[in-house]
Amino acid sequence: GPALLFVKTSQGKEEGRRFYACSACRDRKDCNFFQWEDEKVSETRLAAREEYNRSHQPPFTHRQNVDRYKNFVLLPLSKRRFCQECQQLLLPAEWEKHSDHQFLCDITTAQLKSPSQLLYPLENKKTNAQYLFADRSCQFLLSLLTDLGFRRVLSVGTPRLHEMIQSKASQEDEFSVRSLLLDIDFRYSQFYTEDEFCHYNMFNHHFFGGEAARETCRKFLYEEKGERVIMVTDPPFGGLVEALASSFKKLMAMWKETEKEGRDNKEMPMFWIFPYFFESRILDFFPSFSMMDYQVDYDNHALYKHGKTGRRQSPVRIFTNLTPSMIVLPEEEGYRFCSVCQRYVSSGNQHCEICNSCTSKDGRRWKHCVLCKKCVKPSWFHCANCNCCTLQKHSCEKADVGCFVCGKAGHKRSACPSLSRT
Ligand code: SAH
Ligand code: ZN
Ligand code: ZN
Ligand code: ZN
Ligand code: ZN
Repeated sequence: GPALLFVKTSQGKEEGRRFYACSACRDRKDCNFFQWEDEKVSETRLAAREEYNRSHQPPFTHRQNVDRYKNFVLLPLSKRRFCQECQQLLLPAEWEKHSDHQFLCDITTAQLKSPSQLLYPLENKKTNAQYLFADRSCQFLLSLLTDLGFRRVLSVGTPRLHEMIQSKASQEDEFSVRSLLLDIDFRYSQFYTEDEFCHYNMFNHHFFGGEAARETCRKFLYEEKGERVIMVTDPPFGGLVEALASSFKKLMAMWKETEKEGRDNKEMPMFWIFPYFFESRILDFFPSFSMMDYQVDYDNHALYKHGKTGRRQSPVRIFTNLTPSMIVLPEEEGYRFCSVCQRYVSSGNQHCEICNSCTSKDGRRWKHCVLCKKCVKPSWFHCANCNCCTLQKHSCEKADVGCFVCGKAGHKRSACPSLSRT
């Protein structure tokens, strides 16, 4: 889909020259598309780019994959193979071509219903960053949604949640929740129909399936029979918050347009799952959101799993525009309700009488600094030189040099919020 427009900066000065680069790949190794905004593109280069794009299409279209799946499930178990190298379900006529590839045999219906277990996670940090929910976190999210009365889930980059909803719906008659998966990982098109999966880029709101796919999404957001919808998204953490926010606003607008009256100033309910240190960035774009204390755990993320001590360590949280008091967090995991803050908080999150709020962001007990007039991390101390709280180990001179770009303290140039404006 469309590239994003960036601006080159150096030492705080915008050089003014703007360029287009790939929206989805933040690593030039994954996609080397680069074009100055004011650059004249020759016919030859355009043709070469088009040729490149043509030759990098997936081997089958979504429609073809749906037909292949229908044939696949008709096969006896002994003929159901999955090529691990090509990440593809194989039909017997294709075995020959993949004869020197590693493959899995006897693919069961249960396996077909859990594609996120069958496919290997695309962990390359800068593009897909596929980190799958631990079962416990996924179960929690799903029961939270259903308890809140939602019957439709727009799963944006949450294949495992989608899969849990789909398989529950096929197994339990009383379970009437539906899900539509929007994801850039096209491998999922082998397992889901066009009504269950859209190939989508959340950094530029691009539907690869064109108008038909857009219409599928629009229809899904239309709340027939009072079936309320919520969007759940878990984007790659390296992603630009403003690009994501811009796409999510477009999805929210799509929801809003499905109902001419009665929406007033309502927003589509949403869970945006992201690390706590992005809180201020997310609130910049969505002032109606608040951050919940729940720590989302992952299966294949060594850092975000339970630590040795069994203590939760994940920095990943749920941001939502629903009323915080409605988000009930599991007491058996130590969360409790703070009646002053009117929300569930981590067991270690103490209500600070001075701030009049439960101030911890990371789940540890924070301490109030009277000089800074706010609560800070337990490991910080107040440095008289820097006139703020910081790590014990820091060099004072460096601390008062602000960011090269905006001059503000607290972040380096590479993390400057004003840099990544697109
Ligand atoms: N925790 C989730 C997965 C989150 S990982 C779960 O278990 O369901 C991030 C997801 O976003 C992956 O599925 C990845 O394929 C998808 N993704 C990455 N870049 C994307 C993009 N540009 N547009 C849409 N989806 C993207
Ligand atoms: Zn193969
Ligand atoms: Zn409180
Ligand atoms: Zn305080
Ligand atoms: Zn201080």
